[in-house]
Amino acid sequence: MIEDRNKILASCHCGSVKIEVNLPKGFNEVLRCNCSICSRGKGFGMICVPAASVKVIHGTDHMTEYTFKSNTSPHCFCKSCGIHTHHKSRARPDRLCINLACVEGVDIHEFDNNLIEFNGINHPKDM
Ligand SMILES: [Zn+2]
Repeated sequence: MIEDRNKILASCHCGSVKIEVNLPKGFNEVLRCNCSICSRGKGFGMICVPAASVKVIHGTDHMTEYTFKSNTSPHCFCKSCGIHTHHKSRARPDRLCINLACVEGVDIHEFDNNLIEFNGINHPKDM
């Protein structure tokens, strides 16, 4: 059952990177993006929240970034296990998008029928 939690914890595979996210509106907007990186790495969904709601509580020294095309959307990865935990939104630069598969206690398939499809492959900043 999709929970309406106000605070979530996300982490990479090895546990080096841990992120705390405040969700005052719960899981009300889960996106799936079809851009070149999302379709390869996290086609299962993300939740985009105000950057002020996100706090890396462990492992900033374990994080590295990757950008491409517009270079406006750094994607953050754990240096140890390679898992993409979050990235800065191109469409809404004041937001960070959390990899839903990294959220602890969430069954990503519960969102299969509630995903908002985002047409990131045709984003104007990458044209
Ligand atoms: Zn890791």
